[in-house]
Amino acid sequence: MEQTLVILKPSCVERGLIGEVINRIQRKGIIITGMKMMQLDEKILREHYAHLVDRPFFPELCASMMASPVVCLVLKGINVVEVFRAMTGATNGRKAAPGTLRGDFCMSGQANIVHASDSPENAKVEIARFFKPEEVLDYTPRDLSFLYADD
Ligand code: GDP
Ligand code: MG
Repeated sequence: MEQTLVILKPSCVERGLIGEVINRIQRKGIIITGMKMMQLDEKILREHYAHLVDRPFFPELCASMMASPVVCLVLKGINVVEVFRAMTGATNGRKAAPGTLRGDFCMSGQANIVHASDSPENAKVEIARFFKPEEVLDYTPRDLSFLYADD
């Protein structure tokens, strides 16, 4: 099984949507193997958003990601990177499809509820950035027969 790194952003935490997002993760049958609250700082955000540091909106993005604690999650499942990106929706909440997290819960291109890794390779790097190895548990629910019956 694959793993992915998800961050419930300050827009999720401040608006009381942590439970909504975790509810969707669990109803879908995605397995949670790591979960913790963190206060992000500029150092970790410069690494995490290295592809955006030169963009004019970067200082604003940093400030919005440090506005409150976040919840970091490691999720596990078959093809979970692609599955959870689909559940997340397009970057801008105003363009994200209804039914997705961003499509249902936000109207912003910046304060868009969740971060989700965009490839299995990046997921490995991002999990190592936000979690110590011992914080990611070797956990699989006992009965997967109704979740992954065709694999
Ligand atoms: P994601 O993978 O869908 O989260 O999108 P990106 O990796 O392209 O961007 C990372 C994050 O930067 C997004 O989730 C937004 O919070 C923010 N962001 C991206 N593009 C913009 C933009 O044009 N303006 C602002 N203010 N924030 C942006
Ligand atoms: Mg991205």
